[in-house]
Amino acid sequence: MTVVHNLGFPRIGHKRELKKALESFWSKEIDEKELQSRAALLRERHWRIQQTCGVDIVPVGDFSLYDHMLDMSVTLGAIPPRYGFSGDRVDMGTFFAMARGSATQPAMEMTKWFDTNYHYIVPEFHEGMDFRLASDRIFNEVREARALGLNAKPVLVGPITYLWLGKEKDPAAQAHHEIQHHHDDSACHGHGAPVSDGCFDRLTLLPKLLPVYAELLAGMAAEGVEWVQLDEPALALDLPSNWIAAFDGAYQSLSRGKAPKILLATYFESVAAHAGLLKALPVAGIHLDLRRAPQQLNAFLQGYPADKVLSLGVVDGRNVWRSDLDGALALLHPAHDQLGDRLWLAPSCSLLHSPVDLQQETELDAELKSWLAFAVQKLDEVAVLARAMDKGVDHAGPELAAARAAVASRKSSPRIHNAAVATRLEDLGQDDGQRSSPFPVRQAAQRKRFKLPLFPTTTIGSFPQTPEIRQARLKHRKGELSDADYQKAMEAEIAHVVKEQERLDIDVLVHGEPERNDMVEYFGEQLAGFAFTRHGWVQSYGSRYVKPPLIFGDVSRPTPMTVTWSKYAQSLTQRPMKGMLTGPVTILQWSFVRDDQPRERTALQIALAIRDELADLIQAGIGIIQIDEPAYREGLPLKRADWDAYLNWASRAFRISAQVAADDVQIHTHMCYSEFNDILPAIAAMDADVITIETSRSQMELLDAFATFNYPNEIGPGVYDIHSPRVPGVDEMVDLMEKAVKVVPADRLWVNPDCGLKTRKWPEVLPALEHMVEAARRIRARH
Ligand code: GLN
Ligand code: ZN
Repeated sequence: MTVVHNLGFPRIGHKRELKKALESFWSKEIDEKELQSRAALLRERHWRIQQTCGVDIVPVGDFSLYDHMLDMSVTLGAIPPRYGFSGDRVDMGTFFAMARGSATQPAMEMTKWFDTNYHYIVPEFHEGMDFRLASDRIFNEVREARALGLNAKPVLVGPITYLWLGKEKDPAAQAHHEIQHHHDDSACHGHGAPVSDGCFDRLTLLPKLLPVYAELLAGMAAEGVEWVQLDEPALALDLPSNWIAAFDGAYQSLSRGKAPKILLATYFESVAAHAGLLKALPVAGIHLDLRRAPQQLNAFLQGYPADKVLSLGVVDGRNVWRSDLDGALALLHPAHDQLGDRLWLAPSCSLLHSPVDLQQETELDAELKSWLAFAVQKLDEVAVLARAMDKGVDHAGPELAAARAAVASRKSSPRIHNAAVATRLEDLGQDDGQRSSPFPVRQAAQRKRFKLPLFPTTTIGSFPQTPEIRQARLKHRKGELSDADYQKAMEAEIAHVVKEQERLDIDVLVHGEPERNDMVEYFGEQLAGFAFTRHGWVQSYGSRYVKPPLIFGDVSRPTPMTVTWSKYAQSLTQRPMKGMLTGPVTILQWSFVRDDQPRERTALQIALAIRDELADLIQAGIGIIQIDEPAYREGLPLKRADWDAYLNWASRAFRISAQVAADDVQIHTHMCYSEFNDILPAIAAMDADVITIETSRSQMELLDAFATFNYPNEIGPGVYDIHSPRVPGVDEMVDLMEKAVKVVPADRLWVNPDCGLKTRKWPEVLPALEHMVEAARRIRARH
């Protein structure tokens, strides 16, 4: 019989119970015991659900109160010394101090988990550090599951991936709680992050780490555990050869002791390059992600060792679409013929990245719903596949037929396929989206039109989202505030924001974005081809969950989305009012994307919709328009070999959206992260007239890369950190700008904050902007 197992289940709960429990604990409404008992109830419920779906072996330890990488650090005793921990077992206070900071210490750094929107807490390593078992959590949870009569498979992040995802840091250095990209693989050559100078190679810690893993494995064997899952998704990256070489020794040493059978799990990309290595490892099984990389199966089937289980993930753990079960069966049959009972089935990766249960979506129409599968439904699909293989397709007839019908209806539904959009894409042909004149010509036209001073000042778009704004939006949604009254409330806010900016003497104004709940959702709600769920939450980090829009069909823009607001704002001032749009890559990146066409094609559709909006803004007299692309870099594929293809279409999508701007229309873009080096050519290829970036925390160091690269267009390096309530002084900002002038010609520099101000409060924003404008005046006087 084919074993059905699961790599991980969402932790958050159907009704976001985990978030509620955590927030109650943090605000001291409930105590630690109550928090733990609520967490245990969630775990039990989730195991029962999986069991009901037909999962034979359930994951344990995939649950976490905050993050599974933080759990690993705590389990392995990798506690940065600054948290002052000295006990035997890590306590809850230390755990949450590491996650969220304490009164005296900032939190540990966070970064994206591979190419997902999940963020993990980055382990910190220093030379000579020791590891030791410092938590019994995993053992307790194994006992919990076994007491329920379940076949429990503990899940741990494998030793090589754990080390790879961490950073070498000076233990004395302070950490920032910032979101960094995963490609920023080592602090030793990173920018922006708190970097130590004491660089060593964290791989040298492996021999010290392995005994703790061995102790964990022995402990599990003593509990009677048969299988343990070690996740090594780092194998899907371009790991340096010495890291790959470390696998053999590491797993040899783990298999020597008294250990359960090891299932080594890979996911997110092909590991075919390492097929030989993996087949020879002393592990009892290997898991492959066949959704992302179906072609890797052959490399493993050839000469697959007779003593190993092969687990195949054919149901997408990261997206929301119902599977093509016939297609999956076709892929599985050769494996089943060859392996028999040594074939296991699971979703492609942990279901952590998937919403919990489609059953809860009572407001989605039946047709759309028939195209979807969330975590629970995905497990049902895996079980159906197992049944069809073991007993023949007749034993899964109705389920296979329903899946077939869903696939067929997605292929042909007029809600998905819009002929006008297809024609527009065809007409686009190979058009690469270049503006009509090169940058110097446009720059001259824009200078003539806007007559801005040297070092013009601007902001990134949003102003504080006050409780009143949120209230008004909520009431409007509930129907308690009429459209007209809502519009009045937003206009009053816009008028206020405009007046304050004029008083501050900012050169290029913004309307403040009060009407936007979220920079992607706001557009998704108005674009055709998008749908929204009620409960489709996924964990972004800790207690923060996001509910991404679903892009299910061809995208188009039925009516203008921002024009009334921008036009109103412009009517209040003589100064240029910057229009504010979210770019195609960011909308794509922060949504669940359709899987029936390449991402590139969806991005181009969004680009054309944004272009329509841009044209209408220009028509309405808006002369400066910003197209935000904060997610541009995070769209980078996991393997470098795929980068160029991505960057080509991503920059083209941006250009396509901006292409209709005449020479004297100034296009801005904005990105808020700190790793630009390796994608600068692709940023230049976007050809925005002005780019504003986050730089203040790196002390303008980032600009060096732009200078070395000879970045040709205008740049606004952020002069103050909007992530903190601190109000920086004028001198500080002048100093930063002086650094900038050293590397970028003065007549190409703008003065602005690092990012939007929506999370800040007015009493912080006003003095900070006042100082910023004063700083701009002083530098102007000097240059
Ligand atoms: N215009 C957006 C804002 O100011 C940009 C946000 C972002 O870069 N994430 O809020
Ligand atoms: Zn930003």
